[in-house]
Amino acid sequence: MHQIENFINGEFTSAIGGKRFEKRSPLDGKLIASVSEAGQLEVDAAVRAARAALQGEWSRITIDQRTELLYEVANEITRRFDDFVAAEMADTGQPHHVMTHAFIPRGAANFKVFADVVKNVAAESFQMATPDGRGALNYAIRSPKGVIGVVCPWNAPFLLMTWKVSPALACGNAVVVKPSEETPQTAALLGEVMNKVGIPKGVYNVVHGFGPGSAGEFLTQHQGINAITFTGETRTGTAIMKAAAEGMRDVSFELGGKNAGIVFADCDFDAAVEGIFRSSFLNSGQVCLGTERVYVERPIFEKFVQALKLKAEAVKFGRPEDHAVNFGPLISLEHQRKVLSYYKKALDDGASLVTGGGVPDMSAELKGGAWVQPTIWTGLADDAAVVKEEIFGPCCHIRPFDTEDEVVKLANDSQYGLSTTIWTQHLARAHRVAARVEVGITWINSWFLRDLRTPFGGSGQSGIGREGGIHSLEFYTETRNICVKL
Ligand code: NAD
Repeated sequence: MHQIENFINGEFTSAIGGKRFEKRSPLDGKLIASVSEAGQLEVDAAVRAARAALQGEWSRITIDQRTELLYEVANEITRRFDDFVAAEMADTGQPHHVMTHAFIPRGAANFKVFADVVKNVAAESFQMATPDGRGALNYAIRSPKGVIGVVCPWNAPFLLMTWKVSPALACGNAVVVKPSEETPQTAALLGEVMNKVGIPKGVYNVVHGFGPGSAGEFLTQHQGINAITFTGETRTGTAIMKAAAEGMRDVSFELGGKNAGIVFADCDFDAAVEGIFRSSFLNSGQVCLGTERVYVERPIFEKFVQALKLKAEAVKFGRPEDHAVNFGPLISLEHQRKVLSYYKKALDDGASLVTGGGVPDMSAELKGGAWVQPTIWTGLADDAAVVKEEIFGPCCHIRPFDTEDEVVKLANDSQYGLSTTIWTQHLARAHRVAARVEVGITWINSWFLRDLRTPFGGSGQSGIGREGGIHSLEFYTETRNICVKL
C-alpha cells in the first residue's frame, strides 16, 4: 500500500496530527493508498512556501531558464512514463491504452506547449498622437499573477492538473495544487519530478484532502492565493466562486457539460458511429466533453442505434494491465450509485432501453469494483432528467430529428455550453450548424482532437474564461500597460 504525503516547499510531509484518508481501487474496492489529509496548518504552510518562492530564485531566473526547466519537467515525466501510467491506472482503473496514448503523454506535452507559448508571444503596443505632435507609445508587459490555487477533478487527473500547472509556472507563478481525493498519486509523483529537475522549492506544492471543511475549502478561502483555477462540477464552482469573492480573487472555471452529438444522414456512417461511440463511452463516459445527448437525422436513426448498440455490447471489461481491455470501472462506488440511479430513472421516465442499464457480470475478484454497463436509451421526453442533467457515466440518449433548425434548437436546449460534435459531409451545413450551437468547443467529423494552442472552455454553466495557448496567459498573468510620452 502506498503512503501519499503532502508536498510542501519541496518536501513530502505528513499532516500535523497525522490525519489520513483511504484511497480504494475502483477495480475491486481494495485499499491501495493511505493519504495525508492537509488541514488549515498545512494549507497555510503551502501558501507561505509559494509566496516565499515568488520572492526567491524563481522570480530572478530569465524566461529562457524558466522554459528550459519546464522542458526538463516534460522530459523527466517521459523518462518516468511507466511510473505515471501505473499510478494513474491504479487511481482510476482506466485501460492501459488510454493512459499511454492520451492522458500521460498529454501531461508531458502541456509543459512543452506552454513553455513555447510564453517564449513566443508578442507584446502589444500602440502608438498614439498627442496635442504637442510628439506622440506617445503604449506597450504592455505581463507579470505573474502570484500564487495560483489549482483545484482538480478525478476524471483525467494528470492531464487536467498539468493543463493548469504548466501555464501557471510558464508565466512565473507559484502553485498550490489540491488534487481530487479520488486521485492523489500523480500530483505527488510530479513533486518528485520537480525536485529532480531543480524547480525551486515552494514553486509547486500539493495539499491533499476533500472539499468542504478540508483542503479544498481551506485553499480557496486562503487570502494568500491570488487566483483560483478549477475544473469540476458546476455546483462546486459556485461554492468556490463565493470563496473567491472575498479578497476579489480571479477565477477560471472548467465545469460540467451535457453535450450534444449531431449526426446528419449524409455523414460518413461508420466514422460517425465510431466517433459517437468514443465520445459517449471513452473513460467510461467520465469525460466533461463527452456526449450524453445524441441527435440522429431520421432516415438513418434505426440503423445508427443498432450500430452503436453492437459496439457498446462488444466492450471488454477488466483490469487495465490487460491490453485487450477497453472498458474500465467508474471512479468509485459512490459514483456508481449516482450513475445507476440515473439508469433507474431513465426507465421510470419511460425510456426504451437499447442496451446496458445495469452492472456487468464481473469475475469474483472484481465484483467489489465500481462497474457499470455502457447504456443506450431512446424514447425519452426532451425535458427528462436523464436528457437534461450531467450523469458523467457511459450512457447516452438517442433521439431522431428532421430539420437543421430543429436540431440546433434541441442542442441549445441546455443550461450547459461546453462542447458538441457534428457529423456530416455537407461542408456548408457543418459550418452553419457549428456557428449556431452555443458551446465553447465544436468538433466537425471528429471528437477530442485537441490543439493545445486553441481556446478551451465552456459557456453557460459550463465555465468561466478560456484556457489554452495565449488564452491561458490572460488568466495566469497581469497585463500592465506602460505609456511613454515621446
Ligand atoms: P467535484 O466538483 O466534485 O470536485 C473537484 C475538486 O473540487 C476536487 O478536488 C474536490 O475535492 C474539490 N472540492 C469539492 N468541493 C469543494 C469546495 N467546496 N471547495 C473547494 N474545493 C472543493 O468534481 P469531480 O467529481 O472531481 O469531477 C467531475 C466533474 O468535473 C464533472 O462535472 C465534469 O464535467 C467536470 N469536468 C469539467 C471539465 C472541463 O474542462 N469543463 C473537465 C473535466 C471534468
